Amino acid sequence: MIAHIIAVGSELLTPYRQDTNSKEIARLLMDLGIKVGSITIVPDNDEEIARAVKSAMGRGQLVIITGGLGPTADDRTREGISKALKLDLEFNEEIHQWLKERFKQLNKKEPPDNLARMAFVPRGAEIIPNTVGAAPGLWIEVEGKDLRVLALPGPPAEWKPMMEAMRERLEALGRKDVERRVLRVAGLREAEVEERISPFITGVKNPSVTILASPEDVQLHIIAVSRDPEEARRLVEEMVEKFKEVLGDNIYSLEDEPLEKVVGDLLRARGKTLAVAESCSGGLLSHRITNIPGSSDYFLLGAVTYSNEAKVKVLGVNPQDLEEHGAVSQEVAAQMAEGVKKLAGSHFGIGITGIAGPGGGTPQKPVGLVYIALSWEGGTEVHRKRFWGTRLQIKTYSTTHALDMLRRRLI
Ligand code: ATP
Ligand code: MG
Repeated sequence: MIAHIIAVGSELLTPYRQDTNSKEIARLLMDLGIKVGSITIVPDNDEEIARAVKSAMGRGQLVIITGGLGPTADDRTREGISKALKLDLEFNEEIHQWLKERFKQLNKKEPPDNLARMAFVPRGAEIIPNTVGAAPGLWIEVEGKDLRVLALPGPPAEWKPMMEAMRERLEALGRKDVERRVLRVAGLREAEVEERISPFITGVKNPSVTILASPEDVQLHIIAVSRDPEEARRLVEEMVEKFKEVLGDNIYSLEDEPLEKVVGDLLRARGKTLAVAESCSGGLLSHRITNIPGSSDYFLLGAVTYSNEAKVKVLGVNPQDLEEHGAVSQEVAAQMAEGVKKLAGSHFGIGITGIAGPGGGTPQKPVGLVYIALSWEGGTEVHRKRFWGTRLQIKTYSTTHALDMLRRRLI
């Protein structure tokens, strides 16, 4: 079963509004074992909608359209579907009465004429009641073809209950159980992860494995599909075991948890506390740590010491070392970590100093050069890293590496 999703709305083609419906619908379909073949965005235009529907019809068994079902003249989805499926729009008296009643109750006045637009539906369409708003959804089983079209209104509050109402029917189309696991990896680049796992995934379709890399981590999405739920679980579990063997403790979560959560849990379990001193990451590390509810159990202090003066005054970094080695140096990173640990009286201290760019690089100290220090009861270690990317990416890589250094020290 292949489904195609079409998001209708001219505003979705501008930079100002994102099509989030499609991804959310895709997620629901995936959970039902229905594969998404494509996502298309089209403007509020009969021809464009009709073209997209026709194209999708030829390539799958389910077409889901969101948006453009409202009463205004720019809501064109009914017309588009009618054109694509060659089904005339017929006036449905029952919908019209319902719409009029609803409008009168809500607004205490006579409904406008354009309300009637929503009562025109393609011949043979089944009406999906709207429990939140006005525009009804439509379910059309195309005669003589293994094909259905589902049209949903644009507002999430309106289409979500409709998707829920259609769940059983969609489930029957999926007819398969899907098991999904997300593993998260730190300390290896995407290419390294791929190299290690490629013997297990090359040519294997079930489970399917997708590698998703970002400055936060590398994620492995494992999805197995089977008529037998036990079988799907087993397929995923076997793949997880193989990945564990080749990736070891580079896998920091088997449960799709963010690194800052895993590190926080480790700190709490060990009864340890943390303080961080940030320069180039500008508070991002503190931000990530404090995004986790309950982080006050272990996070004591975060200092953004951007200037040399602040590094000296707040953290007690040696001015001579700053002079001699520069702010972006192993010595300064170490003293930042040690200084903030002392200041806070914590078990662990982290120091980050580097050049986030895009300017400010030199041949000796290029953009992306970052020193990350971890200080603990028994000593201090400093890593010299070179990251690539935008300013925000370099900041993020730095914080990820810092969290991972701490994680490895804790396990
Ligand atoms: P209405 O009766 O509200 O006009 P409609 O079915 O005509 O419903 P649209 O006019 O296309 O839907 O969109 C209404 C609102 O729904 C938009 O302003 C937007 O907030 C939200 N919306 C529509 N499409 C999407 C989408 N693809 N992703 C996220 N939100 C969307
Ligand atoms: Mg509308």
